[in-house]
Amino acid sequence: MLKTLQIKLLPDERQEEALIETFVRFNEACNFVSRIAFERRLYNKVFLQKIVYREIREKFGLAAQLAIRVIAKVVETYKADKEHFHELRDFGSIIYDQRILSFKGMDQVSINTIHGRIRIPMTTGKYGKIPFDRVRGQCDLVRKNRLFYLMVAVEVPEEPTVEPQDIIGVDMGIVNIAVDSTGKYYSGDKINEVRKHNADLRSRLQSVGTRSAKRHLKKLSGKENRFARNTNHVISKEIVQRAKGTSSAIAIEDLSGIRMRTTVRKGSRYIHNSWSFYQLRSFIEYKARESGIPVIAVDPHNTSRECPNCHSISKRNRPERSHFRCVSCGIEGEADFIASLNIRNRAAVSQPIVAGAIFGHLTLPAASPDALARSS
Ligand SMILES: [Zn+2]
Repeated sequence: MLKTLQIKLLPDERQEEALIETFVRFNEACNFVSRIAFERRLYNKVFLQKIVYREIREKFGLAAQLAIRVIAKVVETYKADKEHFHELRDFGSIIYDQRILSFKGMDQVSINTIHGRIRIPMTTGKYGKIPFDRVRGQCDLVRKNRLFYLMVAVEVPEEPTVEPQDIIGVDMGIVNIAVDSTGKYYSGDKINEVRKHNADLRSRLQSVGTRSAKRHLKKLSGKENRFARNTNHVISKEIVQRAKGTSSAIAIEDLSGIRMRTTVRKGSRYIHNSWSFYQLRSFIEYKARESGIPVIAVDPHNTSRECPNCHSISKRNRPERSHFRCVSCGIEGEADFIASLNIRNRAAVSQPIVAGAIFGHLTLPAASPDALARSS
């Protein structure tokens, strides 16, 4: 599978200027070409190159390969939509290939700019080192929060698939971002705190409405997204590690369930963030895949209303939002935990063939009184 490494560049002041100028010039050239492509309805790389290549090299002072990249980028953006003119952002990404970019060991990269080729220090950060023999294709130079990064696609060998001995059911919610069927709670307190705090600040800033308030607002949402993303990384990592440590598959609800369950009252809209759930889910999926852990998606209907012990389904099983008490057999516990047990059960029974082969030695996982006691 392919994995994208994000390598941070550490340019000095002069190099930073060269990068900024290159970005601006590159995207200006893109807009120039985009205009011609759109007006003449010309979306073919070869034809377009014949018309604009010389002109963009002269007009924008781009090296040959960068000029080619400009044309390729414009052609690419029109593949999805030819109905509208495409204007590219000043700092839209620049795609580099081996001819205009080369790594000089683990701490320097040599790249083409409008001021010629320069060597810029970089840091591989948490990746430790880049497996150069497994770098695939081109890499994107991007600018985020005034910093420069190279996005490098690397072929990562998948670990052999674990033969699961068990299943961990994971329920995703709002108060608890996730609860798993081993009884582990991944709290959403901190992230909800941040969101609530920001929501207050946001409404104050919105009523101010000045330009600086707007800038502040934008910054705020960036900060909040980064915080949520980081939280999702930490949680997904822990869930996958637990699964690996116990040789378990991971069971989660089918996507539609997540959308359903995140419908909240209008007053608490700030908590409603289905985007964050999709992100957590996709983090769990790709981390599991990297570790060879199977992920099983189950039918999400009534996972919060079914009794994991006698399987009766009733609205009345949920006397309160956070509490479950079965009207038939009396088992009770924390609602999100009960849901995680149901998700686990469903994964085991929903795949009879797999279940027969790999879960045959287990009795079907039902709620153990122990686990239930732990949760209440
Ligand atoms: Zn029951």
